[in-house]
Amino acid sequence: MAALEIQNINKFYGATQALFDVSLSVGTGEFVTLLGPSGSGKTTLLKILAGFEPVSAGAITLNGQDVTKLSPETRNFGLVFQGYALFPHMTVFDNIAYPLRVRRVGRAEIAERVSAILDLVQLGRFVNRRPNELSGGQQQRVALARALVFKPDLLLLDEPMSALDKKLRTDLQEELRDIHRSLGTTFINVTHDQEEAMHMSDRIAVMDQGRIEQFGTAFELYRQPKSRFVADFVGKSNILEGVLDRSETVAIFRGHGVELALPGCARKGGPADLLIRPEDLTVTREPATHGAIGLPARVLHSTYSGDRALYTLAVEGAPEFLAYGAARSGIFDDGESVTISFTPDGCTLVG
Ligand code: ADP
Ligand code: MG
Repeated sequence: MAALEIQNINKFYGATQALFDVSLSVGTGEFVTLLGPSGSGKTTLLKILAGFEPVSAGAITLNGQDVTKLSPETRNFGLVFQGYALFPHMTVFDNIAYPLRVRRVGRAEIAERVSAILDLVQLGRFVNRRPNELSGGQQQRVALARALVFKPDLLLLDEPMSALDKKLRTDLQEELRDIHRSLGTTFINVTHDQEEAMHMSDRIAVMDQGRIEQFGTAFELYRQPKSRFVADFVGKSNILEGVLDRSETVAIFRGHGVELALPGCARKGGPADLLIRPEDLTVTREPATHGAIGLPARVLHSTYSGDRALYTLAVEGAPEFLAYGAARSGIFDDGESVTISFTPDGCTLVG
Protein backbone atom coordinates (compact mmCIF):
# COMPACT_ATOMS: atom_id res chain seq x y z
CA MET A 1 0.00 0.00 0.00
CA ALA A 2 1.27 3.41 -0.84
CA ALA A 3 1.46 5.56 2.30
CA LEU A 4 2.32 8.76 0.51
CA GLU A 5 1.05 9.73 -2.93
CA ILE A 6 2.54 12.78 -4.57
CA GLN A 7 0.44 13.55 -7.61
CA ASN A 8 1.42 15.84 -10.49
CA ILE A 9 2.93 18.61 -8.42
CA ASN A 10 3.91 21.81 -10.16
CA LYS A 11 5.50 24.67 -8.30
CA PHE A 12 6.15 28.21 -9.42
CA TYR A 13 8.10 30.87 -7.54
CA GLY A 14 6.78 33.90 -9.41
CA ALA A 15 7.63 33.22 -13.04
CA THR A 16 10.22 30.51 -12.23
CA GLN A 17 8.97 26.95 -12.33
CA ALA A 18 10.80 24.86 -9.69
CA LEU A 19 8.84 21.59 -10.05
CA PHE A 20 7.37 20.05 -13.18
CA ASP A 21 4.61 17.51 -12.80
CA VAL A 22 6.30 15.57 -10.01
CA SER A 23 4.62 12.29 -9.04
CA LEU A 24 5.88 9.75 -6.53
CA SER A 25 4.31 6.85 -4.73
CA VAL A 26 5.98 5.89 -1.44
CA GLY A 27 5.12 2.75 0.50
CA THR A 28 4.42 2.56 4.23
CA GLY A 29 7.70 2.29 6.12
CA GLU A 30 9.80 2.93 3.04
CA PHE A 31 13.06 4.91 3.13
CA VAL A 32 13.05 7.09 0.04
CA THR A 33 15.75 9.57 -0.92
CA LEU A 34 15.41 12.52 -3.27
CA LEU A 35 18.79 12.74 -4.98
CA GLY A 36 19.87 15.49 -7.32
CA PRO A 37 22.31 18.33 -7.89
CA SER A 38 21.88 21.73 -6.28
CA GLY A 39 18.88 23.55 -7.67
CA SER A 40 17.07 20.43 -8.87
CA GLY A 41 14.05 21.08 -6.63
CA LYS A 42 14.65 18.69 -3.71
CA THR A 43 14.15 21.23 -0.92
CA THR A 44 11.14 22.70 -2.69
CA LEU A 45 9.49 19.28 -2.81
CA LEU A 46 10.33 18.62 0.84
CA LYS A 47 8.96 22.02 1.92
CA ILE A 48 5.77 21.27 0.04
CA LEU A 49 5.51 17.93 1.84
CA ALA A 50 6.10 19.66 5.17
CA GLY A 51 3.45 22.29 4.40
CA PHE A 52 5.85 25.25 4.37
CA GLU A 53 5.24 25.99 0.70
CA PRO A 54 1.91 25.76 -1.11
CA VAL A 55 1.72 23.80 -4.37
CA SER A 56 0.84 25.62 -7.58
CA ALA A 57 -0.95 22.50 -8.79
CA GLY A 58 -1.18 18.87 -7.75
CA ALA A 59 -2.05 16.92 -4.61
CA ILE A 60 -0.48 15.00 -1.73
CA THR A 61 -2.31 12.23 0.07
CA LEU A 62 -1.17 10.30 3.11
CA ASN A 63 -2.89 7.01 3.83
CA GLY A 64 -5.71 8.11 1.55
CA GLN A 65 -6.22 11.48 3.24
CA ASP A 66 -5.66 14.64 1.21
CA VAL A 67 -3.10 16.70 3.15
CA THR A 68 -2.27 19.21 0.40
CA LYS A 69 -3.87 22.15 2.21
CA LEU A 70 -3.16 21.16 5.82
CA SER A 71 -0.95 23.48 7.88
CA PRO A 72 2.49 22.15 8.93
CA GLU A 73 1.37 21.66 12.57
CA THR A 74 -1.57 19.48 11.68
CA ARG A 75 0.40 17.14 9.38
CA ASN A 76 2.16 15.30 12.22
CA PHE A 77 5.40 15.04 10.25
CA GLY A 78 8.88 15.08 11.78
CA LEU A 79 11.46 17.42 10.27
CA VAL A 80 15.25 17.43 10.36
CA PHE A 81 17.07 20.05 8.34
CA GLN A 82 20.73 20.81 7.84
CA GLY A 83 21.80 22.75 10.92
CA TYR A 84 18.22 22.57 12.15
CA ALA A 85 18.28 24.87 15.14
CA LEU A 86 17.74 23.27 18.52
CA PHE A 87 16.45 25.54 21.26
CA PRO A 88 19.80 26.81 22.60
CA HIS A 89 18.60 27.58 26.13
CA MET A 90 16.97 24.17 26.62
CA THR A 91 18.62 20.94 27.69
CA VAL A 92 18.64 17.89 25.45
CA PHE A 93 15.75 16.53 27.50
CA ASP A 94 13.65 19.66 27.08
CA ASN A 95 14.43 19.96 23.39
CA ILE A 96 13.18 16.44 22.79
CA ALA A 97 10.24 16.78 25.17
CA TYR A 98 9.09 19.96 23.42
CA PRO A 99 6.89 18.37 20.72
CA LEU A 100 5.31 16.12 23.35
CA ARG A 101 4.51 19.09 25.61
CA VAL A 102 2.95 20.89 22.64
CA ARG A 103 0.78 17.79 22.20
CA ARG A 104 -0.15 17.83 25.91
CA VAL A 105 1.37 14.45 26.68
CA GLY A 106 1.54 13.69 30.45
CA ARG A 107 4.78 14.06 32.43
CA ALA A 108 5.38 10.39 33.10
CA GLU A 109 4.88 9.45 29.47
CA ILE A 110 7.15 12.28 28.36
CA ALA A 111 9.94 10.99 30.60
CA GLU A 112 9.47 7.49 29.28
CA ARG A 113 9.39 8.44 25.61
CA VAL A 114 12.31 10.85 25.79
CA SER A 115 14.39 8.22 27.51
CA ALA A 116 13.49 5.57 24.93
CA ILE A 117 14.33 7.82 21.98
CA LEU A 118 17.59 8.93 23.62
CA ASP A 119 18.59 5.27 23.82
CA LEU A 120 17.77 4.84 20.17
CA VAL A 121 20.04 7.72 19.13
CA GLN A 122 22.62 6.73 21.76
CA LEU A 123 22.59 10.00 23.63
CA GLY A 124 21.30 8.85 27.02
CA ARG A 125 24.21 10.31 28.97
CA PHE A 126 23.85 13.78 27.46
CA VAL A 127 20.30 14.33 28.65
CA ASN A 128 21.14 17.39 30.77
CA ARG A 129 23.47 19.12 28.34
CA ARG A 130 22.63 22.13 26.28
CA PRO A 131 23.15 22.17 22.47
CA ASN A 132 26.38 24.22 22.68
CA GLU A 133 27.90 21.46 24.84
CA LEU A 134 27.41 18.90 22.07
CA SER A 135 29.29 18.14 18.82
CA GLY A 136 27.63 18.73 15.45
CA GLY A 137 26.83 15.02 15.07
CA GLN A 138 25.32 14.85 18.54
CA GLN A 139 23.20 17.94 17.88
CA GLN A 140 21.88 16.37 14.70
CA ARG A 141 20.98 13.25 16.69
CA VAL A 142 19.06 15.40 19.17
CA ALA A 143 17.24 16.99 16.23
CA LEU A 144 16.48 13.51 14.94
CA ALA A 145 15.21 12.39 18.35
CA ARG A 146 13.02 15.49 18.61
CA ALA A 147 11.57 14.76 15.16
CA LEU A 148 10.81 11.13 16.01
CA VAL A 149 9.68 11.27 19.64
CA PHE A 150 6.04 12.08 18.84
CA LYS A 151 5.81 9.13 16.42
CA PRO A 152 5.33 11.13 13.22
CA ASP A 153 3.49 9.65 10.25
CA LEU A 154 6.38 10.73 8.06
CA LEU A 155 9.94 11.86 8.74
CA LEU A 156 11.38 14.48 6.38
CA LEU A 157 15.15 15.01 6.30
CA ASP A 158 16.81 17.75 4.23
CA GLU A 159 20.56 17.13 3.87
CA PRO A 160 20.80 16.37 7.60
CA MET A 161 24.44 15.30 7.36
CA SER A 162 25.91 17.75 4.89
CA ALA A 163 27.55 19.85 7.64
CA LEU A 164 29.32 16.84 9.19
CA ASP A 165 32.71 15.42 8.29
CA LYS A 166 32.99 12.28 6.19
CA LYS A 167 33.57 9.69 8.93
CA LEU A 168 30.78 11.05 11.09
CA ARG A 169 28.50 11.13 8.09
CA THR A 170 29.08 7.46 7.34
CA ASP A 171 28.45 6.52 10.98
CA LEU A 172 25.27 8.54 11.09
CA GLN A 173 24.09 7.02 7.81
CA GLU A 174 24.29 3.57 9.33
CA GLU A 175 22.62 4.72 12.50
CA LEU A 176 19.81 6.34 10.57
CA ARG A 177 19.24 3.15 8.63
CA ASP A 178 19.11 1.12 11.86
CA ILE A 179 16.71 3.62 13.43
CA HIS A 180 14.53 3.41 10.35
CA ARG A 181 14.49 -0.37 10.58
CA SER A 182 13.59 -0.44 14.24
CA LEU A 183 10.81 2.18 13.98
CA GLY A 184 9.28 1.37 10.60
CA THR A 185 8.40 5.06 10.05
CA THR A 186 8.28 6.29 6.44
CA PHE A 187 11.40 8.40 5.77
CA ILE A 188 11.89 10.93 2.97
CA ASN A 189 15.50 12.06 2.86
CA VAL A 190 17.13 14.68 0.63
CA THR A 191 20.74 14.63 -0.47
CA HIS A 192 23.02 15.56 -3.35
CA ASP A 193 25.41 12.77 -2.31
CA GLN A 194 24.80 9.66 -4.38
CA GLU A 195 26.76 7.38 -2.06
CA GLU A 196 24.67 8.44 0.90
CA ALA A 197 21.50 7.86 -1.12
CA MET A 198 22.65 4.40 -2.21
CA HIS A 199 23.74 3.32 1.28
CA MET A 200 20.56 4.22 3.09
CA SER A 201 17.54 4.12 0.85
CA ASP A 202 15.05 1.49 -0.19
CA ARG A 203 14.39 3.57 -3.29
CA ILE A 204 15.85 6.74 -4.75
CA ALA A 205 14.14 9.43 -6.83
CA VAL A 206 16.77 11.11 -9.01
CA MET A 207 15.84 14.73 -9.68
CA ASP A 208 17.12 17.13 -12.30
CA GLN A 209 15.81 20.60 -13.12
CA GLY A 210 12.57 20.17 -11.25
CA ARG A 211 11.72 16.76 -12.66
CA ILE A 212 12.00 13.21 -11.41
CA GLU A 213 14.28 11.49 -13.89
CA GLN A 214 13.97 8.01 -12.42
CA PHE A 215 12.59 6.35 -9.29
CA GLY A 216 14.00 2.98 -8.36
CA THR A 217 16.35 0.96 -6.17
CA ALA A 218 20.05 1.79 -6.10
CA PHE A 219 20.62 -1.33 -8.20
CA GLU A 220 18.11 -0.27 -10.85
CA LEU A 221 19.55 3.24 -11.09
CA TYR A 222 23.09 1.96 -11.35
CA ARG A 223 22.59 -0.97 -13.71
CA GLN A 224 19.61 0.22 -15.73
CA PRO A 225 19.61 4.03 -15.85
CA LYS A 226 16.75 5.42 -17.89
CA SER A 227 18.57 8.56 -18.98
CA ARG A 228 22.01 9.85 -19.66
CA PHE A 229 21.66 12.14 -16.66
CA VAL A 230 21.03 9.23 -14.27
CA ALA A 231 23.87 7.19 -15.81
CA ASP A 232 26.26 10.09 -15.20
CA PHE A 233 24.98 11.21 -11.81
CA VAL A 234 24.76 7.81 -10.12
CA GLY A 235 28.23 6.27 -9.93
CA LYS A 236 31.12 6.51 -12.34
CA SER A 237 30.39 5.75 -15.95
CA ASN A 238 31.75 5.35 -19.45
CA ILE A 239 29.25 6.25 -22.12
CA LEU A 240 29.75 5.56 -25.81
CA GLU A 241 27.49 7.42 -28.20
CA GLY A 242 26.54 5.44 -31.26
CA VAL A 243 23.83 3.72 -33.21
CA LEU A 244 21.94 0.50 -32.66
CA ASP A 245 21.49 -1.48 -35.86
CA ARG A 246 19.09 -4.29 -35.63
CA SER A 247 17.72 -7.08 -37.72
CA GLU A 248 15.09 -9.54 -36.54
CA THR A 249 17.65 -11.71 -34.83
CA VAL A 250 20.43 -9.48 -33.65
CA ALA A 251 21.11 -6.00 -32.29
CA ILE A 252 24.51 -4.47 -32.90
CA PHE A 253 25.79 -1.33 -31.24
CA ARG A 254 28.31 0.70 -33.24
CA GLY A 255 30.10 3.76 -31.95
CA HIS A 256 33.63 5.09 -31.39
CA GLY A 257 35.11 2.15 -33.26
CA VAL A 258 33.32 -0.36 -31.05
CA GLU A 259 31.10 -2.97 -32.64
CA LEU A 260 29.21 -5.05 -30.14
CA ALA A 261 26.41 -7.59 -30.54
CA LEU A 262 23.91 -7.34 -27.71
CA PRO A 263 22.10 -10.66 -27.29
CA GLY A 264 18.59 -10.37 -25.92
CA CYS A 265 18.40 -6.63 -26.60
CA ALA A 266 14.80 -5.77 -27.47
CA ARG A 267 15.38 -2.10 -28.22
CA LYS A 268 14.50 -0.74 -31.63
CA GLY A 269 17.26 0.62 -33.81
CA GLY A 270 18.47 4.23 -33.83
CA PRO A 271 20.81 6.48 -31.87
CA ALA A 272 21.91 4.82 -28.63
CA ASP A 273 24.19 5.38 -25.64
CA LEU A 274 26.13 2.39 -24.39
CA LEU A 275 26.99 2.41 -20.68
CA ILE A 276 29.99 0.50 -19.32
CA ARG A 277 30.75 0.84 -15.62
CA PRO A 278 34.46 1.08 -14.65
CA GLU A 279 34.33 -2.27 -12.81
CA ASP A 280 33.08 -3.99 -15.96
CA LEU A 281 36.30 -3.15 -17.80
CA THR A 282 39.49 -5.17 -17.48
CA VAL A 283 42.88 -3.53 -17.90
CA THR A 284 45.72 -5.79 -19.06
CA ARG A 285 49.09 -5.65 -20.79
CA GLU A 286 48.00 -8.55 -22.97
CA PRO A 287 45.46 -8.40 -25.83
CA ALA A 288 41.81 -9.13 -25.01
CA THR A 289 40.83 -12.75 -24.45
CA HIS A 290 38.63 -14.54 -26.94
CA GLY A 291 35.00 -13.34 -26.83
CA ALA A 292 35.82 -9.97 -25.30
CA ILE A 293 36.09 -6.62 -27.08
CA GLY A 294 39.53 -5.12 -26.63
CA LEU A 295 40.57 -1.51 -27.18
CA PRO A 296 44.18 -0.35 -27.22
CA ALA A 297 44.56 2.34 -24.58
CA ARG A 298 47.14 4.46 -22.82
CA VAL A 299 47.12 5.10 -19.08
CA LEU A 300 46.75 8.83 -18.42
CA HIS A 301 46.74 8.61 -14.66
CA SER A 302 45.61 6.46 -11.79
CA THR A 303 44.41 6.79 -8.23
CA TYR A 304 45.28 3.97 -5.86
CA SER A 305 42.96 3.29 -2.92
CA GLY A 306 44.53 0.13 -1.48
CA ASP A 307 41.89 -2.34 -2.60
CA ARG A 308 42.08 -1.23 -6.22
CA ALA A 309 43.24 1.40 -8.66
CA LEU A 310 41.08 3.66 -10.78
CA TYR A 311 42.62 4.37 -14.16
CA THR A 312 41.86 7.20 -16.54
CA LEU A 313 42.69 5.96 -20.02
CA ALA A 314 42.97 7.47 -23.47
CA VAL A 315 41.49 5.50 -26.35
CA GLU A 316 41.85 6.76 -29.91
CA GLY A 317 38.60 8.06 -31.37
CA ALA A 318 36.72 7.70 -28.09
CA PRO A 319 36.21 9.74 -24.92
CA GLU A 320 38.48 9.03 -21.94
CA PHE A 321 37.66 5.79 -20.13
CA LEU A 322 37.54 5.08 -16.41
CA ALA A 323 38.41 1.54 -15.37
CA TYR A 324 39.07 -0.20 -12.09
CA GLY A 325 41.96 -2.61 -11.86
CA ALA A 326 42.96 -5.07 -9.15
CA ALA A 327 46.04 -3.63 -7.47
CA ARG A 328 47.41 -6.66 -5.62
CA SER A 329 50.39 -7.11 -7.90
CA GLY A 330 51.10 -3.48 -8.67
CA ILE A 331 49.53 -0.75 -10.73
CA PHE A 332 50.15 0.35 -14.29
CA ASP A 333 52.33 3.38 -14.84
CA ASP A 334 51.17 6.61 -16.40
CA GLY A 335 51.87 6.48 -20.12
CA GLU A 336 51.85 2.68 -20.26
CA SER A 337 50.16 0.99 -23.24
CA VAL A 338 47.44 -1.42 -22.20
CA THR A 339 44.29 -3.09 -23.46
CA ILE A 340 40.91 -2.40 -21.95
CA SER A 341 38.41 -5.14 -22.59
CA PHE A 342 34.78 -5.86 -21.88
CA THR A 343 32.03 -8.29 -22.77
CA PRO A 344 28.38 -7.61 -23.75
CA ASP A 345 27.07 -8.63 -20.32
CA GLY A 346 28.99 -5.72 -18.77
CA CYS A 347 27.24 -3.23 -21.07
CA THR A 348 23.83 -1.63 -20.90
CA LEU A 349 22.02 0.65 -23.30
CA VAL A 350 20.91 3.79 -21.46
CA GLY A 351 17.16 4.36 -21.52
P1 ADP B 1 17.65 21.94 -4.25
O1 ADP B 1 17.16 21.76 -2.87
O2 ADP B 1 17.59 20.70 -5.09
O3 ADP B 1 19.03 22.54 -4.29
P2 ADP B 1 15.64 24.00 -4.45
O4 ADP B 1 14.34 23.31 -4.27
O5 ADP B 1 16.18 24.76 -3.30
O6 ADP B 1 16.71 22.99 -5.02
O7 ADP B 1 15.51 25.02 -5.67
C1 ADP B 1 14.92 24.67 -6.91
C2 ADP B 1 14.81 25.91 -7.78
O8 ADP B 1 13.86 26.81 -7.25
C3 ADP B 1 16.10 26.68 -7.92
O9 ADP B 1 16.20 27.14 -9.22
C4 ADP B 1 15.94 27.81 -6.93
O10 ADP B 1 16.68 28.92 -7.32
C5 ADP B 1 14.46 28.08 -6.99
N1 ADP B 1 13.94 28.56 -5.70
C6 ADP B 1 13.98 27.90 -4.52
N2 ADP B 1 13.39 28.61 -3.53
C7 ADP B 1 12.97 29.77 -4.10
C8 ADP B 1 12.27 30.93 -3.63
N3 ADP B 1 11.87 31.04 -2.35
N4 ADP B 1 12.01 31.90 -4.53
C9 ADP B 1 12.38 31.79 -5.81
N5 ADP B 1 13.03 30.74 -6.33
C10 ADP B 1 13.32 29.73 -5.50
MG1 MG C 1 18.18 21.96 -0.97
